[in-house]
Amino acid sequence: MARMEHALRESDALRRALRQAMEERDRGEHSLGAIWRRERLTCPTREDLSSYLFQVHDEGRQAYIDFHLQTVGCPYCTANLADLRARQKETEGQTKERRKRFFTSSAGYLQVCRDQRASDRKTSGGSQGYTNGGEPGAWSRLLKKYGSKS
Ligand SMILES: [Zn+2]
Repeated sequence: MARMEHALRESDALRRALRQAMEERDRGEHSLGAIWRRERLTCPTREDLSSYLFQVHDEGRQAYIDFHLQTVGCPYCTANLADLRARQKETEGQTKERRKRFFTSSAGYLQVCRDQRASDRKTSGGSQGYTNGGEPGAWSRLLKKYGSKS
């Protein structure tokens, strides 16, 4: 679950893909859990997809990812690749900038969590706010702050 949330924080496109997968599940076509377990086992990493996009893999790896996207039609990686393409357009060739943004938003998320906990303690007086952990509030604030950018 933590890995899923981490990935979801990283990508708007992924959130859309998840929503789509959930809609498919509701129509009875797939089980979301089954898709996740089945597809993610063979999925290239985001770095892999990025290299694929820049065509720097050797022929075999390039062909594998091609197969994974075109033939398997993995919704996760298709969404991930679309997100990478959009970012590539934004910052043509500037991978450093992209990494910096990722780390900045991670740090921002942690800061939001800490702020939330601190203000919970102040407003609700001690342990009550702390047992909530502040996560839902922090989560929605994060979405507001970073969710509409890509
Ligand atoms: Zn995949």
